[in-house]
Amino acid sequence: MKHDFDIVIVGAGHAGIEAANICNKFGLKTALISNKKDDIGKMSCNPSIGGVGKTHIAREVDVMGGLICKIGDISAIHYRVLNLSKGPAVWGIRAQIDRKLYQKNMYEFISKSKISIIEDEVTDILTNRSMVRGVNTKNNNKIYAKVVILTTGTFLNGNIYFGMEKYEAGRINNKSSKKLARFVKENFQTMRLKTGTPPRIIKDSIEFSKLRPQESENNDIYLSFFTEQNKNKMINCYMTKTTSKTHKIIRDNLHKSAMYSGAIRSQGVRYCPSIEDKIVKFGDRNGHNIFLEPEGYDSNLVYPNGISNSLDKNTQGKFLKTIPGLEKCEISEYGYAVEYDAVDPRNLNKNFESKKIKNLFLAGQINGTTGYEEAAGQGIYAGLNASIKVKKLNIKNNIFSRSNSYIGVMVDDLTKLGVTEPYRMFTSRSEYRLKQRTDNAYERIYPNSKKLKLLNSTDTKIIDAMIKKEKSILKKINKEKFSPNKLLKYGIKTKLDGKIRNGFEVLKLMDPDINLFKRLFNIIINKKLLTKIIFDSKYEVFYEREQRSKDLLIKNQRFKLKGLSFKSIPSLSKEVVEKLEKHKPENLDDASKISGMTPSALFQLLSFKKSKSRNVQSK
Ligand SMILES: Cc1cc2nc3c(=O)[nH]c(=O)nc-3n(C[C@H](O)[C@H](O)[C@H](O)COP(=O)(O)OP(=O)(O)OC[C@H]3O[C@@H](n4cnc5c(N)ncnc54)[C@H](O)[C@@H]3O)c2cc1C
Repeated sequence: MKHDFDIVIVGAGHAGIEAANICNKFGLKTALISNKKDDIGKMSCNPSIGGVGKTHIAREVDVMGGLICKIGDISAIHYRVLNLSKGPAVWGIRAQIDRKLYQKNMYEFISKSKISIIEDEVTDILTNRSMVRGVNTKNNNKIYAKVVILTTGTFLNGNIYFGMEKYEAGRINNKSSKKLARFVKENFQTMRLKTGTPPRIIKDSIEFSKLRPQESENNDIYLSFFTEQNKNKMINCYMTKTTSKTHKIIRDNLHKSAMYSGAIRSQGVRYCPSIEDKIVKFGDRNGHNIFLEPEGYDSNLVYPNGISNSLDKNTQGKFLKTIPGLEKCEISEYGYAVEYDAVDPRNLNKNFESKKIKNLFLAGQINGTTGYEEAAGQGIYAGLNASIKVKKLNIKNNIFSRSNSYIGVMVDDLTKLGVTEPYRMFTSRSEYRLKQRTDNAYERIYPNSKKLKLLNSTDTKIIDAMIKKEKSILKKINKEKFSPNKLLKYGIKTKLDGKIRNGFEVLKLMDPDINLFKRLFNIIINKKLLTKIIFDSKYEVFYEREQRSKDLLIKNQRFKLKGLSFKSIPSLSKEVVEKLEKHKPENLDDASKISGMTPSALFQLLSFKKSKSRNVQSK
């Protein structure tokens, strides 16, 4: 049968782009179909990339030759590293992005590649005896392909809500995908999920002089592993807070909120709650923080992070004016909630191919996730597996698994446990979180991306040189011996235990100070590599502990949980307690099958029950 393309990707959001890019790298004839050409790489919500857990995925995409980090860096206007005082296992590199620039840079990259961009609406998927044949579109009719990847985000049967005002739309100014939704509903189990976005404010109407600025941090840590420097001009963000007046207005108008009036019943993003949710669930506190994030160099818009809502327009206008700095603010676009169809990802095989229809792959928010990074990770994963299938490559090892990557964790969680609410990545979802760090993503992912030739020659050289340098440095420093007195002379605090330490052991006692490293070993090293080897050394002992915890969980799968009051285990998150109480698992194995359960929660259950049994015995 004649095909127009090897692979057709439906949707040019964060999942679609990464899928198209990797298929193109495999030399496949690839088409990227999007409702609007101008929307390629559009950030539907927050103009930022990264955060804890999310950067981990983005870095893995980066080392697979993906785009999110590199295009993010060239479009970045502000950087922060969340949890910098802790180790890189939980660092959350977060970049504020110039929204228009990101889209422009992404469009330029894709349009210069061999990927064919087609502006059209896909209305149906063509199949023959449970095998994909291509897609049907509104303007171009039938487009035949060996494989189709669906990455339609929040568009399937999407409805947006401003309070009780309801429109059919995938997001603001975008039509809902109703026809395609019919195909999806007929062939998959679907659920309704929801998310929301805050209003956008006109920059000139904000009184910044009243507000606390938040400057970009300058610590040479970027989204992409390959970015050495960023010369973009950095712009300040600003901080403000809701007030008791804000809370009163919102409380008084909750009946006009789409979420609280019952107009929307579907499950929203637990860890990105709306302002209505924050006030109802967490009370007044001392006000709820709002980060005023500029949308870009040439943009007169500001994104007020922290007040996404589904209230009516009038209430939004009123409550904003009670917030310091926003008393005279003008709104350019009101906040809204969007409700859409998502697919139960357990309908997919581990490679993200539909269990029912061969050669149909799904990735991104359609699989019940939320976030650009989660979408990008799935896009590259689905694109990789689709390419392997088309090219009939014989790849035996698991390119992404729970033990080597957050992408592996996400895929495993989604396809095994499914979702009951939009899935967001957290480091606690991984049982190997000390090993799966942002600074060592290249070590975990590169062997595969190198074998598959996914990186360009410059990036390949950078990583090869880094690996070579690391080896030679470790060899050299391990020959050096240091007594406690010698270390004290270098200003390194240590016990006077008489222990002679080699260079690698000395790293455990150090911060990433390249000058101190030079004095100790007479070696010039860059901060990136020094940070990596220091944390390899510091975490070495914990790697074994992580593995032991994992083994213990496997050994105790049948461990009974009956009679345990989950609420009384203080270390469990509210989400985990809620789910355990709902499902009432008999044993640890049952608990591990509940969607949203994390390895660390399972371990806490085991430890708590064991310590309780010990206490009873000793009485
Ligand atoms: C209002 C709103 C609020 C959000 N809030 C948050 C948040 O607070 N936190 C967070 O992490 N994430 C949030 N998100 C989610 C985030 O935007 C998505 O997770 C991410 O963009 C998903 O990427 P994706 O590639 O799966 O889909 P999208 O980025 O949505 O891209 C989908 C693409 O598919 C195209 N498409 C759809 N149907 C068709 C069709 N039939 N034919 C052709 N093309 C089609 C669209 O044009 C679009 O290009 C929000 C999204 C929205 C809309």
